Amino acid sequence: MSNTPFDDDKLHEECGVFGAFGHKDAAALTALGLHALQHRGQEACGIVTTDGDHFYAHRALGLVDQAFEDADVMKGLKGHIAIGHNRYATTGATLVRNIQPLYADLAFGGFAMAHNGNLTNPNTLRQDLVQKGSIFQSTTDTEVIIHLVATSKKNTVPDKIVDALSQVTGAYSLVACDENQMIGVRDPHGIRPLCLGKLNDAYILASESCALDIIGADFVRDIEAGEMVVINEKGVQSHHPFGKNASRFCIFEYIYFARPDSYVDGHSVYEMRKNIGAELAREAPVPTADIIVPVPDSGVPAAIGYAEASNIPFELGIIRNHYVGRTFIEPTDQIRHLGVKMKHNANKAFIEGKEVVLVDDSIVRGTTSRKIVEMIRQAGAKKVHMRISSPPNKHSCFYGIDTPDSQDLLANQKTVEEIGKYIGVDSLAYISDDGLYRAVGETERNAENPQYCDACFTGDYPVRLIDHEDQDNIKRVTNLQEHSAK
Ligand code: SF4
Repeated sequence: MSNTPFDDDKLHEECGVFGAFGHKDAAALTALGLHALQHRGQEACGIVTTDGDHFYAHRALGLVDQAFEDADVMKGLKGHIAIGHNRYATTGATLVRNIQPLYADLAFGGFAMAHNGNLTNPNTLRQDLVQKGSIFQSTTDTEVIIHLVATSKKNTVPDKIVDALSQVTGAYSLVACDENQMIGVRDPHGIRPLCLGKLNDAYILASESCALDIIGADFVRDIEAGEMVVINEKGVQSHHPFGKNASRFCIFEYIYFARPDSYVDGHSVYEMRKNIGAELAREAPVPTADIIVPVPDSGVPAAIGYAEASNIPFELGIIRNHYVGRTFIEPTDQIRHLGVKMKHNANKAFIEGKEVVLVDDSIVRGTTSRKIVEMIRQAGAKKVHMRISSPPNKHSCFYGIDTPDSQDLLANQKTVEEIGKYIGVDSLAYISDDGLYRAVGETERNAENPQYCDACFTGDYPVRLIDHEDQDNIKRVTNLQEHSAK
C-alpha cells in the first residue's frame, strides 16, 4: 500500500471504471472517461477492447494521459467494445500484473473485467480455489471473481458472473466484457457508484457522471444496488439476480471521493457538499469569525456552504500549489512535514489579524491539519477554528477506500477536544451523524437500517468482514516478493 507523499492525511479512493459498447472509437472514449475519473486512482490504468474476434489491451503504471499518449497505442486498441480502469492499490501491490482490466482466456472465450471496490472474503475464496488447482496471476481480489467465473458450470456469461458474485461478499461496481457484450454490476448494497450513459447509439458505463460529460454522453440513470445490466446488440437488459435490496451507498463519496461536478445516486455531489457545510455552520457556528477558509481543494464546496449559511465572507486563505509531483520525494515522516508547505501556502494578506474558520472534509492522522493550523497562525491569524464536514473517522474502510488501521486514525485514539489540542486550534467541531444525513436529504440517520454506508464513522458495517473476522485469512496471498515497477 502506498500513499501519495503530500496527501498522507487523506483517505484515498481506489478505482474508477468505464466501459463503452457499440462505438467505433470505444478505446478513445474510454481513455477520455478514465481521464475524467483520474481522481479515483492515479497509480495505474488500463484498457481492454474487442472487435468481436480478438481482444486488445494496454496497461501501464501512472496517469491516463501518459499511459495513452502514444497514437500507436490507441490505434492498437481496436474494436467497438472497450472497458477501462484507474487503479489506486487497496489490495495487491503496485505491480504491472495487478493493473486492470484483468483479462483471461476462458473456456467460452476471452473475458475482461474491471472492478471498483473491495471484497471482504477474497482470501477465503482464493484458498479454496488454489486447493482446487486455480493458478493466480495477480494478488488482486478481482482475480478471485474471474476464477469463479471460469469455474462456474452455468451456461451463459451473465449467469456465470451471477454465480461467481453469489459467492463473494463486499463492495463491487464491475464492468466486464466478452467478445459480444458488456456487462455492468453493482453489489447488492450499491456501496460504490456506477451509472449508465448513452452517446448516440453507443452505451456507456462509468463510475461517475463526470466521465459521461467529457465525451458528450447523456446520463441515463444510476445502476441500482444489486442490479446487473447486460448490454449487447439488442440494447440494455436489466436483471436483479440478488433481489432488490436497500442501498447502502458510501456516504463518503458525497463528502470527499466523488468529483463535485458528478451526479451520484440522483444527487449533485457539489450541492451535497455545500449542504453539509451549511449544516455544519448551523451545528457548530463561529459567530465572531472574520473569514471562512477552505483547506483546498476538497474543502472548498463545504466551506462555501458554511460561509453562505453563516453570512461570513469566504476567502481563499490557503493557496494550493498544483504542480507538486506525486513521486518527487519519498513519503518519509520527516519529508511529509516539508510536503505540507510545498503543497499549501497561507494567503497572508487575508489571514493576518483575522479570526479564521478552516473547513476541511476529514482528519485522518492529523499530521496535515497540524501543519496547516501552524501555517495559518504563522501568517498572523488572531484565532483559528477548524470545522470538519464528516463525523470523526474512527474505523477502517474495508469496501475499497484506502484507510489506515483504526489504531492509526486520530479519532479512534482521541476525543474531539484532544484532537483540537493536538492540531492546535482554538476550537474544533465535526458534523454530527444526523447532521450529515440531514444534509444529504434524510430527516435523520435510521439507526435500525441506515440509509448509507457510514461504517468509517459508526463502525456499523453493512457487509460482513469475513476475512477480517478470521485472523488466519489476513495473511499473504503470494510467496513471491516482487519489486514494484514504479
Ligand atoms: Fe464509504 Fe466509509 Fe463505508 Fe468505506 S466505510 S464505504 S469510506 S462510508
